[in-house]
Amino acid sequence: MTKSANSNPPVGGKRAILMVCDGLRRDLITPQHAPTLSRLAGEWCNFKSHTSVFPSTTRVTSASIATGCLPARHGLAGNTMALDEGEGLVCRNAGEPDFRDRMRRATGQTLRVPTLAQRLAGRGGSIVYSNVSPGAAYFQDPDGYGYVYHPSGAFGPGLEPLPESDWLRIEKGVAGDQVMTARFCEEVLRIRRPALSVLWLSEPDHTGHHTPLGSPAHREAIAGADACVAKVAAAVEALDPAWQDTLMIVCSDHGHETGESEVHIEELLVAAGLKESLASSDVVVAPNGSAALIYMSEHAAARREELIGYLQTQEWVGRLYAGPELAEVGLETDTALAVAIDMGKSDRVNEYGVPGYSYLAHNAMAGKDYTGLGQHGGLGAYEQQPFLFARGGDIPRRKEVDRPSAPVDIAPTIARHLGLPQDGMDGKPLV
Ligand SMILES: [Zn+2]
Repeated sequence: MTKSANSNPPVGGKRAILMVCDGLRRDLITPQHAPTLSRLAGEWCNFKSHTSVFPSTTRVTSASIATGCLPARHGLAGNTMALDEGEGLVCRNAGEPDFRDRMRRATGQTLRVPTLAQRLAGRGGSIVYSNVSPGAAYFQDPDGYGYVYHPSGAFGPGLEPLPESDWLRIEKGVAGDQVMTARFCEEVLRIRRPALSVLWLSEPDHTGHHTPLGSPAHREAIAGADACVAKVAAAVEALDPAWQDTLMIVCSDHGHETGESEVHIEELLVAAGLKESLASSDVVVAPNGSAALIYMSEHAAARREELIGYLQTQEWVGRLYAGPELAEVGLETDTALAVAIDMGKSDRVNEYGVPGYSYLAHNAMAGKDYTGLGQHGGLGAYEQQPFLFARGGDIPRRKEVDRPSAPVDIAPTIARHLGLPQDGMDGKPLV
């Protein structure tokens, strides 16, 4: 355990705690497998129409939660996205530890808007504990204003590496999440007490990607995440029984759909004469689970209408956004990103009674096929069904809110609770 205390006192004693159960679909919160979350759904404020961003992937959502902005403004377009680091467009994995350095080389910066960690530097500070990909963890605070702890490393202010003894020595899954949660309650909540404490579990997303949705293993992972929520909620309540100074938000970043089958989009584009070769940088597909982003170099731009015409004939394409339409789904319109695809969906029910299937964009970097397993990234009814419950601050108790809310609303809610301005955010406080 680190001995370094948080050097900045919280602003006016106010604190915010954000806990994310990665990939937990709202309709899979049941009294049998998620007793705590089922109870909080009734006792806390329950945002019943909460959705994700597009692409509905962990890294994009992480950046939107941290900044209160959509991808069009923060600049992280996907779990994978094409970057030109001087040798043409290449698809890169935003989950890798070195991605933020690649992003700096290609664009001169990481995220283009401030994070909560930056806003809180010198004003109570922030500490992030995360058991998801390094990229998703680091995009909570890519430029190192606060503390970030992850199995692949830990950083303090100025991105100063912390000693290995401080790293989270855990693996993805319930057991690792439980170790991280216990350390979070003791070290972050009780001892260091920053203005913002973030705990991001790997489950049930991790198991959902490896087993069918609703299978016994997936339900067990949901129960494991639920037990972690119970521990954190109890620790918070013990520290501030009246919830006068504390705001706690527990949520997920996206839901899941079942993979229908994988589509090798780049192979199809090469075969259709729309891309020079699999390795070429004229047209580059960035697979994002049940979504795909297609980038075009300047010299390939003349092929755009032909590409769109081809895609419109494909049964695996659900919805397609090109040019100015990219703004409708929160994406940039002035970069090499030419087309975004929400892969085709159906309401079919899987062997465990869980509805929602989607075609998937094959990802050669993933090293596995997600057919029949949980996946996400698109605009499907179920992947766009995360949950969000909140308590404390100005949040009313025992209330169900039907008004739509989204990950970009989390940062303004936290900023307002902590007495910070909410300028330059796309979202609005939740209530
Ligand atoms: Zn996720």
